[in-house]
Amino acid sequence: MQQITILGSTGSIGCSTLAVIKAHSDKYQVFALAANQQVEKLFQQCMQFAPKYAVLVNEAAADQLAERLRSAGSSTEVLAGKAALAAVAEDPQVDVVMAAIMGAAGLLPTLAAVKTGKKVLLANKESLVMAGELFMNAVKVHKATLLPIDSEHNAIFQCLPHCFQSLPDAGVRRVVLTASGGPFRKFSQAQLTEVTPEQACAHPNWSMGQKISVDSASMMNKGLELIEACHLFAIKPEWVDVVIHPQSIIHSMVDYIDGSVLAQMGNPDMCTPIAHALAWPARMSTEVKPLNLADIAQLDFYPPDEQRFPCLKLAREAAEAGGTAPAILNAANEVAVAAFLAGTIRFIDIPLINETVLTRLEVQPSFELENVLVADGKARELAMTLINQVGL
Ligand code: NAD
Ligand code: MG
Repeated sequence: MQQITILGSTGSIGCSTLAVIKAHSDKYQVFALAANQQVEKLFQQCMQFAPKYAVLVNEAAADQLAERLRSAGSSTEVLAGKAALAAVAEDPQVDVVMAAIMGAAGLLPTLAAVKTGKKVLLANKESLVMAGELFMNAVKVHKATLLPIDSEHNAIFQCLPHCFQSLPDAGVRRVVLTASGGPFRKFSQAQLTEVTPEQACAHPNWSMGQKISVDSASMMNKGLELIEACHLFAIKPEWVDVVIHPQSIIHSMVDYIDGSVLAQMGNPDMCTPIAHALAWPARMSTEVKPLNLADIAQLDFYPPDEQRFPCLKLAREAAEAGGTAPAILNAANEVAVAAFLAGTIRFIDIPLINETVLTRLEVQPSFELENVLVADGKARELAMTLINQVGL
């Protein structure tokens, strides 16, 4: 029996992970479930999966959850606060940690899992974007097993040989990230000024949390994924191409020097990468609908449009600059997306804020966690200032 902690269990990835685990309850036992403040959902999950621990960051919410579980006769122990996230990630009884918290809040607990040598299933791309250098170094030093959950990176991982020193040694010359293009793929610049949070969150192919949905609509998600790919596979940004593929059937590709291009395909459902990473190097079944290419009939591909969607270009620039630049961009974007979701700024202001913050702040080396956290804080502060200024 593998003991698993799910960080971000109440979110989209967290719920898909529990669905996969439920179908394989002979192999996986839930050790801890952790979330921000969703009492009702976590209560339901605790009743169904009876974890040893349940964590809510919000203290008042944790008290409510503890009360509800006590009344229901549950033996799950409730912990509160940020430190408890790391505690349930690094507990010696835990074998596997699903890192599915949204945003920078995922960094410290995911690092805690890495530093105790766990098998870490990484959905929280922001932690790798912010602190990729020190994160990957910790994976090596502490012999953690890091498996990508992001469908693109999971696809690339599946298209690479099992054992290799580096991508060039494996005969790879390029990786190609596919992007759906999001709900606004065909929108003009004028139409983009008018779009609402509801429209941005209605992704054509994937059902996801709000933040990543907005990132998909702005192409920032692909930008974050470009940076994520550079760290995961130890490659430079120029090795990563992006192609728009609206059907989301090819999840990404690896281009080899002999002209072979390997692609991983499947119906778009996060249960596939989750099951792949959980069972790796074996395979296990999911409920995902088998792929029927004759039904799909057509797969389309286009180059990305960096004029209408400048976030991808910004991310490439941040990846090339290195150091704390990606952490700065990520933090500015988190603040800008939250402001867009709250109705404070327009969709087209997101890249403007990101670009302004990225150009105004000085980039530092990112090998120390302290530097990363300072850069994150400064970028959030500047983004807030810009949002509060008239005209934005
Ligand atoms: P979501 O918004 O649906 O869920 C986020 C989860 O994180 C919730 O359980 C929430 O309680 C928790 N959380 C949020 N803020 C927190 C905080 N400050 N402290 C502790 N917990 C907090 O998000 P999601 O769509 O499941 O995405 C989660 C992560 O996975 C993101 O990093 C996203 O980029 C990545 N990801 C998601 C998908 C997808 O299909 N949803 C695909 C690839 C990668
Ligand atoms: Mg992805």
